[in-house]
Amino acid sequence: MKILATRPIPVDKDAIRKVVSAIVRELPSHLRFRPDDMDNPLWMARGFQKDRWGFYPNVPDVLISRPWLDEPISLPEGSWPDTADVRGVGVSAMLRLSAKSDPRATPDGPRYYVFGGHVKGNVGTPTNPKRYVEPDNVEVFINSSRTPNELLGNLDKVGRELYSVLIHEATHVRDLVRTKPAQYGVDPKAYYNEPSEVRAFMQQVADEVIEAIGAPELATGVMVTKAIQHSKTWNRIEPHLNASNRRLLLRGIGTAVMDARIVNRVASAWLHDARRLTGVR
Ligand SMILES: [Zn+2]
Repeated sequence: MKILATRPIPVDKDAIRKVVSAIVRELPSHLRFRPDDMDNPLWMARGFQKDRWGFYPNVPDVLISRPWLDEPISLPEGSWPDTADVRGVGVSAMLRLSAKSDPRATPDGPRYYVFGGHVKGNVGTPTNPKRYVEPDNVEVFINSSRTPNELLGNLDKVGRELYSVLIHEATHVRDLVRTKPAQYGVDPKAYYNEPSEVRAFMQQVADEVIEAIGAPELATGVMVTKAIQHSKTWNRIEPHLNASNRRLLLRGIGTAVMDARIVNRVASAWLHDARRLTGVR
């Protein structure tokens, strides 16, 4: 049976932003190669070793996912024994930045600076629910087909893509209803329709949509639709989604925008009060 959420699993986006800043700050010191290697792909640089290159950003074992919603994510009845702590327990994870070339890259497809990542170890199983809350290791990959100078000259884009990949991976870490590691091989249809991937992509697209809209409390249906159509991640995954996952993603993204509207309204009401009380404008 499929286990599906109707809104993105809550993750701590402020903590993720801190991790992104630490990586962007530290990255240049790891991209120093001989001058004539700086404009060749990273993987060609002398001194670059595929399996060795990388670092643990200097942020103390950051809590990358934190529950904050009062409502648990919705689950079909009777499908899983152990979901209560969806709102109770934070999950932390060690994060490592590594590099390899993007296996999905095509001649006319998008060229990413940071193309993906994975969660290592401690994947829960229905018979071993205890393992759901153990810390995991997250590894995120810089695209080694990019040159060191391209990376250094586009640290803002590196940061944005890192953030997008990290909220995807943080969702996997936080996903207490994790399914077994998928056996999808290279079949994109199987990969993109895997329930845990659907949940992680819901997060990623929802975030891109909310960012694009800017002020979610003013969002109209047309704006949301437009923002979805412009989402880089949505355009990548949409051709592979089956009809029910497509519907599910759109519903989850819609709910996330609604959630963001509530959060923003609360925040702006609070700000209004604070300004009134302090006289600061
Ligand atoms: Zn994933």
